[in-house]
Amino acid sequence: MKKVILVKNGEIVLKGLNRSTFEDILIKNMRRRLAPLGTFTFRKSQSTIVAEPDSDDIDFDEAVERISRVFGIVGFSVAAVCDKNIDDIKRTALEFLGDDLRNVRTFKVNGKRSDKKFPMTSPEIAAEVGAHILSNIHPLKVDVHAPELTVTVEIRDQVLIHGNQRKGAGGLPIGSSGKACLLLSGGIDSPVAGYMMSKRGLMLDAVHFVSPPYTSKRAELKVHALAKLVSRYSGRIKLYVVPFTEIQEAIKDYCPEDMFTLIMRRHMMRIAQQIAENDGCKALITGESLGQVASQTIDSLQCTNAVAEIPVFRPLIGMDKDEIIEIARRIDTFETSLQPYEDCCTVFTPKHPKTRATAAMLEEAETMFDFAPLLERAVKEARYTYIEA
Ligand code: ATP
Ligand code: MG
Repeated sequence: MKKVILVKNGEIVLKGLNRSTFEDILIKNMRRRLAPLGTFTFRKSQSTIVAEPDSDDIDFDEAVERISRVFGIVGFSVAAVCDKNIDDIKRTALEFLGDDLRNVRTFKVNGKRSDKKFPMTSPEIAAEVGAHILSNIHPLKVDVHAPELTVTVEIRDQVLIHGNQRKGAGGLPIGSSGKACLLLSGGIDSPVAGYMMSKRGLMLDAVHFVSPPYTSKRAELKVHALAKLVSRYSGRIKLYVVPFTEIQEAIKDYCPEDMFTLIMRRHMMRIAQQIAENDGCKALITGESLGQVASQTIDSLQCTNAVAEIPVFRPLIGMDKDEIIEIARRIDTFETSLQPYEDCCTVFTPKHPKTRATAAMLEEAETMFDFAPLLERAVKEARYTYIEA
């Protein structure tokens, strides 16, 4: 049986970009996400896009999985394609949706004839296909108002038969909002933050700070694994690994202990911002949540934010940890985040971090050592790899 994926695109009524540009970005993204499985042909038709595999031996279930993670899609369904005659339609409907129909108590058939040359009207198609299903599957009842399963028969340039629409990933097509740079640690929060902002159409770069020998190669590999999991949604991520040891040691040696974390966070922001600018990213993204730790109180956030000249997106700012974990589980990053490797954030952490620092206090503390050459070197020595699921 020949099958296609019917895609309903989402929030494309944006100002600026027109519908067609949006659809083109979406199609490009779908094509890329499906590429490891084989090639597909895409056709735009009204508010749907039809994705048809170019060969029969494609892993269709995996293709559906992949489509379910593409942003910019509100809903999708798998449709069977059949010949334009009512007998073939009846047979295909039963063969394609029989298992689903056996699992429900009520159904209805929805006829949609856009090809007016087809000899039956929409209600006639619905009645005939419905009767055929009823006589083959028991016990099953028609419920036209609230059926558990709606069988849709669309007569277009080809005949498409499908069941209930599945929910898509929502959001906007990746790239339609430009590019931003995610500060990615090995924790639970930042992968979720990256997922959330890519949902709004942002392509992602990611920056990860490492402090060997205090942090291990395995900690870095864990971050690669996390980036790969996020890329199942966000598409390809350019992941920078930034050497941070020298800077952390200098902070420890020259700055007041209780300001260690905030100074470190400010340097992270400075470096990330430089990388972002070099790469055309228009914002930074962090996994911060108000009040979660000492470096995320409102005063602390004001201190770290003060060094940023581009917007800093913090999609988790108003969320509780359990709400963040719920998303982490859903996007499958949670288990990987739990692997217990050192992050550079936990190296040299002060026993009593300041929670009420001001940007002025930090500026003063940062004058005790000339960090500029170290920051420049960290940017220069950052190495990137492209990560794509
Ligand atoms: P996460 O669960 O994302 O690690 P967290 O609650 O542990 O967050 P912090 O360690 O204070 O919080 O870090 C706050 C944010 O700073 C992180 O969400 C992330 O965006 C960024 N960050 C922390 N450590 C690193 C790192 N080693 N490399 C890149 N970004 C980092
Ligand atoms: Mg962390």
